[in-house]
Amino acid sequence: MDLCAACPRLCQSACPVAMTDANESHTPWGMMQTLNLVRQGEIPFDASVAAMSYQCLTCKACTTQCEHGNVIPPVLHDVRKMAVEMELTPPEITGFLAKFHKHNNPFARDLLSRFKELVAHKFFEGDPATVYFPGCSTIAKCPEVVRDTFSLFSKLKIDFVGAYPEAVQCCGYPLLTAGMEDEFVDLAEINFQALKKYKTVVSGSPACVYTLRDTYAKYDFNLGNRVMTINQFLEPYLQNINYKLKKNMRTKLMYHDPCYSARYLNEIERPRELISQVSGYQPVEFFESGAKTGCSGQGGCFSIVSKDVSDAITVKRLEEVYEKKVQMVVTQCPSCVTKFRKNSKGLVIKDLVSYLNDSIEGVKE
Ligand code: SF4
Ligand code: SF4
Repeated sequence: MDLCAACPRLCQSACPVAMTDANESHTPWGMMQTLNLVRQGEIPFDASVAAMSYQCLTCKACTTQCEHGNVIPPVLHDVRKMAVEMELTPPEITGFLAKFHKHNNPFARDLLSRFKELVAHKFFEGDPATVYFPGCSTIAKCPEVVRDTFSLFSKLKIDFVGAYPEAVQCCGYPLLTAGMEDEFVDLAEINFQALKKYKTVVSGSPACVYTLRDTYAKYDFNLGNRVMTINQFLEPYLQNINYKLKKNMRTKLMYHDPCYSARYLNEIERPRELISQVSGYQPVEFFESGAKTGCSGQGGCFSIVSKDVSDAITVKRLEEVYEKKVQMVVTQCPSCVTKFRKNSKGLVIKDLVSYLNDSIEGVKE
């Protein structure tokens, strides 16, 4: 915070909220100034300061331009935690948490039942060493990704991956980002006890992978490298199996790096390699791509507290797709897929696994 106070706002142009919402107090610099004043006792920690702490996508774009190595999201997470403890959370967050408590996920639905409608019963049986953890948003918002994942496994003759059979289908990230650290820890422990028996846990949601692998470890629930992204898991199969491609027409596409893939998991080249392997060419790049990717507007709890600005960030991100006359965007995060679908016209938005499944016909006999 002290470094921010003396900084000429180096990160401002990287922050999607700052560049979209004309509100100085919602820029990374502005938020740190306010928190500095609270720390110095100049202003009270009240509901408006608490609400301010949710004005961040946790996208970490600011870190790419900060020469001091400051990382804003963990600071704001601590502030949100204080907001919860002092019962100062904005009403949207209170409502979100009430919804979460119904079924331990943000969708207030029994997602295990829904998962079981999407995947054959046999995958929930037995004692597999490897399990697929889809994550709550994928089941609720992108069910085709769950189906396409198992379809792709079947085409590649990967027959040993089970479906995660537990009642809790959320990694807990929504609780943590809302400021409910104690509840997050309780849920993390439940998941940790269930997940530690598997040798490998595969997920197509980068936020789930980061939460299960990296965040859990910070709370002494270390699942280690058994947690991997779907791309990490598929890569050796796609490199070594002789598979047939469908004779589909391949269209030009853009790849959108989700913040959690690129900046939290550092998975930047792998998705591009997988795309070029099945399509024969590299995706068209966004001006802001790889480690400098722009957020889709859905990160953290931001879309709950600032829906209009969040949508405006999405629309801005997609402008380039229309300008470059590309009709398909491939990405790999259920939140990005959902947000892009809601805020685009005439574009095909696909998860990378669905794209691979669409492109591959099966193993050559
Ligand atoms: S996060 Fe870094 S770049 Fe941004 S205001 Fe603070 S010190 Fe400056
Ligand atoms: S994490 Fe993203 S939204 Fe939050 S302050 Fe940094 S750039 Fe802005």
